[in-house]
Amino acid sequence: MTNKIIDLRSDTVTQPCKAMRDAMANAPVGDDVFGDDPTVNALQQKAAELTGHEAALFAPSGTQSNLLALLAHCQRGDEYIVGQDAHTYKYEGGGAAVLGSIQPQPIEFAANGSIPLDIAKKKIKPNDHHFARTRLLSIENTVGGQALPMSYLDEARAFCNDTGLGLHLDGARVFNASVHHNVPVSAITSQMDSVSICLSKGLGTPLGSILCGPKDFIHEAHKWRKMLGGGMRQAGIVAAAGIFALDNNIERLIEDHHNAEFLATELTEIDELTVTKQFTNMLFVEYQGSLSPSELADKLLEKGIKICAGEHMRFVLHKDVSHADCKRVVEGFKDIFS
Ligand SMILES: *Cc1c(COP(=O)(O)O)cnc(C)c1O
Repeated sequence: MTNKIIDLRSDTVTQPCKAMRDAMANAPVGDDVFGDDPTVNALQQKAAELTGHEAALFAPSGTQSNLLALLAHCQRGDEYIVGQDAHTYKYEGGGAAVLGSIQPQPIEFAANGSIPLDIAKKKIKPNDHHFARTRLLSIENTVGGQALPMSYLDEARAFCNDTGLGLHLDGARVFNASVHHNVPVSAITSQMDSVSICLSKGLGTPLGSILCGPKDFIHEAHKWRKMLGGGMRQAGIVAAAGIFALDNNIERLIEDHHNAEFLATELTEIDELTVTKQFTNMLFVEYQGSLSPSELADKLLEKGIKICAGEHMRFVLHKDVSHADCKRVVEGFKDIFS
């Protein structure tokens, strides 16, 4: 396996395993726009049960799933409170504003990735004709790989109850958070008004996200999904991968966390590298050395190791990077700098 590429750029680079491909090939399918696809229906039901919600909707991407949530929670001229570096604000092309006429109110994350609720409170607009109507608090978990404290979830719930805001969770990597805290994912997700989960990150499917929430909310989101072109036909082919992932790939995420810890410990020993943070399946590394960052990346690639070049690097662990691979990564860096 020495020719294997060890890809640390993201947990989105995983390949579906043989058993997942078999499940996809053998899935019973139907036209999901008619609601006829038994595999999509089974996936949605499974996700709803797992997250502690009434209903769920399969979407092609996390960006679309989050957008469906924002569109279903907010009307034109409403506002959502969101992290300055949150995916739903910064990395989704401004979709809420462009397609929903929903105004974002970004707030700097606290060091632990939470949105400080005292600041959020001050940003809620008075009910006055000058202002957009503040409707929603959108949080993220994990956030930059960091699992939010469980106590913050309770505080956010209480805050939204007090203020009448809806509470959406971008849970692209929420299973990393549940594994980190050693709690069922529903302990994190059930107290949200809606949650978007990604199947295509650490869970290892080729694509797909799921929005979970109350029945009437999902009914509304379903209409938006059709409008955005997310109504898919025999989508059970990919939903089958999602069922496989929820059955088989959640508990193993702890291995990725351990591998990230191992890499953090080992890479810190190298003079040119400083590991500044390690959370769940991610580590953040500062590089200072005589090679330029892109020369470093080229040299690593010669050794079968793929990274995003930079002085500030993020390495992401996933099911296709084993402990032995991590040892190769450490050796690779040591070789280059020796
Ligand atoms: C990946 C990701 C999403 C969704 O991204 P897609 O690439 O559209 O599936 C949403 N939020 C976070 C935090 C993510 O990391």
